[in-house]
Amino acid sequence: MTQVTEAIVLDALRGVKDPDRGQDVVALGMVQGMAIKGGHVHFTLEVEPERGPRLEPLRKAAEKAVEALPGVLSVTAVLTADKPGRAPAPAQAQARGHAHGQGQPNKPLIPGVKTIVAVASGKGGVGKSTTAVNLALALKAKGLRIGILDADIYGPSLPRMMGITGKPDTKDGKILEPKVGYGVKCMSIGFLIAEDTPMIWRGPMVMSAIEQMLRDVNWGDLDMLVVDLPPGTGDAQLTMAQRVPLSGAVIVSTPQDIALLDARKGLGMFRKVDVPVLGIIENMSYFLCPHCGERSEIFAHGGARREAAKLGTEFLGEIPLDIAIRVTSDEGYPIVISQPDHPQSKIYRTIADRVWAKVTGEVSTNRPEPKIVVS
Ligand code: ADP
Repeated sequence: MTQVTEAIVLDALRGVKDPDRGQDVVALGMVQGMAIKGGHVHFTLEVEPERGPRLEPLRKAAEKAVEALPGVLSVTAVLTADKPGRAPAPAQAQARGHAHGQGQPNKPLIPGVKTIVAVASGKGGVGKSTTAVNLALALKAKGLRIGILDADIYGPSLPRMMGITGKPDTKDGKILEPKVGYGVKCMSIGFLIAEDTPMIWRGPMVMSAIEQMLRDVNWGDLDMLVVDLPPGTGDAQLTMAQRVPLSGAVIVSTPQDIALLDARKGLGMFRKVDVPVLGIIENMSYFLCPHCGERSEIFAHGGARREAAKLGTEFLGEIPLDIAIRVTSDEGYPIVISQPDHPQSKIYRTIADRVWAKVTGEVSTNRPEPKIVVS
């Protein structure tokens, strides 16, 4: 297969002219942060914030020019109003947090939805969906208007965890009504197809399904839409992080080193596409024996806290491995709702408060920034 190189991509981009300035995007130094991996090309186009909203056609033209090259499998170009090479530190992330879409003019906004927060993980099985659902329910319990979009196309678990069955209604055959569980508006690909249907979703199909679930669902007015992303840091996730107007992302990780390496990738991915990372949650942090209450640190507990400090992001909290969490999720009656006084429910609520505060800036979140330790 033809080897795609940066030089070849830049050559193609020389044919793309900035409509306002007459010169091509390469000559103007607008092309930044190019990453090429196995035929998948990512880059950003640096633009002035005030021109951003008008330049979507330029972004598309740049994608098209590169797509036409032999050996190119996918292209994602992102418009960014940021200066190159500036990874957003947590404090900056906070400041921009609630104005979703700001600085990301290529992302369509959902009218009525104030903030969108993604819950992500480097790999499957770490409890990402369980965490997303309990956090959403904890936010609902605060009196906020909340929705959950289960974008985990590979393993949609929202219907089971929320105890929702049946297909969503539609009034006009185009817009779907979300299902409501415990006062939270829910949409999942799992509502539309049977849970045991084998699915091989290719990147673009995943994207169009997600876009549809954002656009063609009557979300109404929401304070926050929690998006349960598919696990991993591959192209599907990257594209999603770019196309969904995210206010921020939360990364769920288990304490094992290997999982932490994955969390690091997730963090890098969101920073690359300029989505503020709100912090890391350590799930299955330690084991609480249901019989004697003894705490055992099965997987070297504390890894996520150390990693968060190293990476300069916030450690949002730790959730133990507790059978009550699994049982209540399996029953479709998550712990935050079914046992609000349970210690684990309190942990979810504390984390949810923190996420809400960081996204909206409602509560002062000025902690000293963690030192970056080079090891
Ligand atoms: P993911 O979305 O990362 O694939 P899930 O949320 O589906 O993971 O969780 C995987 C399994 O682990 C589920 O059976 C879930 O009930 C269980 N689980 C998740 N978090 C915990 C926890 N803190 N304690 C006990 N079981 C948990």
